Amino acid sequence: MKLQFKLKIFPNKNKRMILENFCNIWKNLVNSYIDLYWKLPDWELKSKYPPKEFFLGNNKFEWYACLKAWQIVKATIKMKRKTKPFFKKNEFDFYDNLFSFCNFVTKEFDLWLKVYSGIPFRRILIPCKKYRRLNYWLNKRATFSKAIKFKKINGNWYVIVYLNYKPKERKQNTKIVGFDIDYRNGVADSIGKIWFNKEFENLRKRTKWRSYKNGINPLRQLFNRIAKEIINIYQCNFAFEKLNFKGKKGRSKKFRRDYKNVPYNHLIKRIETLTKLEGFQTVRVSSVYTSQTCPICGYISKENRSGDNFKCKKCSFEYHADVVAATNIAIRAGLRYGYQPVVAQAVAEEWRRQGIQPPVECLAVSTPLQSRQGVGLCTLNLSCFKDKTVPRRIPDFLS
Ligand SMILES: [Zn+2]
Repeated sequence: MKLQFKLKIFPNKNKRMILENFCNIWKNLVNSYIDLYWKLPDWELKSKYPPKEFFLGNNKFEWYACLKAWQIVKATIKMKRKTKPFFKKNEFDFYDNLFSFCNFVTKEFDLWLKVYSGIPFRRILIPCKKYRRLNYWLNKRATFSKAIKFKKINGNWYVIVYLNYKPKERKQNTKIVGFDIDYRNGVADSIGKIWFNKEFENLRKRTKWRSYKNGINPLRQLFNRIAKEIINIYQCNFAFEKLNFKGKKGRSKKFRRDYKNVPYNHLIKRIETLTKLEGFQTVRVSSVYTSQTCPICGYISKENRSGDNFKCKKCSFEYHADVVAATNIAIRAGLRYGYQPVVAQAVAEEWRRQGIQPPVECLAVSTPLQSRQGVGLCTLNLSCFKDKTVPRRIPDFLS
């Protein structure tokens, strides 16, 4: 896994001039090489590196500019654009032996970049500061990769550093918890816990018509917090629905208004990265009829649901509608990927009472505990499933 961080650097007047110089040289070099490569026939552009006879310089800096131009031309042709690309960003790259990191700590700075200055055997030192997020990953034994990028944003210079991180190995865990995201109740899981109602509702209304810079949207921040909490509490695999909104078409005005600005995908992506780091897996399953299907008998009807309440018209099983949807998602993921879904006690009890064999081997949990060690996900002793005299009906919607 590759992570990137933007650090502010503090060059003095001289060093700043060297950086500006590099930036201009880099821009000119890249553009001149783009001119050169743009005329090449398509078959020449297949190779990973530019051919030696089209490289005119003799130092490393120029070679990397030439590589950059090669990548830009290749990407433009791949996207089938007809106009010649032009490189105008205020940035340049440094690779392996053009720079090194120095770790000595002074009063103000704790990271130094020893950078090629254009003159042989003379390097310049540029100070910068680490920050909390970067230290967090360095403490987790992430390592600096051998490339940096200098970038000028609004007159200030920044350096972008890359970290390599090896995630934990995949854990042998067969439990899976399903989640349903809804604009009214926020997130509901298959265990029966409903995450944030009031706070979510208020934030959704407050952030509705405002635009935020990337990273400071309070709704997204809340989702980040929830994602972290979910993983800390459950410590297992997760299932989500596939989100495929078909745009405006066929949706009522109210629906569109309600669904505006809810960053569903943000939460799922966040949980995906966090589970990957912990060594678990996140899967997505189809969301068709998840909130209209009875998890006990498999009867599908629009009338099963009214508002937040779910009541099956066939077997009269009654529960919270979002939890039912989450349960269905967990069951589907269990069937598809071979996991054991974790369900609420009420659902498991209902299976036992009606003598129905659950479609997948399930785990039931009584009360979700708020602990860092993870909840005690326990298997319910569903003795009737082993008794062959009880008639078994397997819901056909799930097979
Ligand atoms: Zn039913």
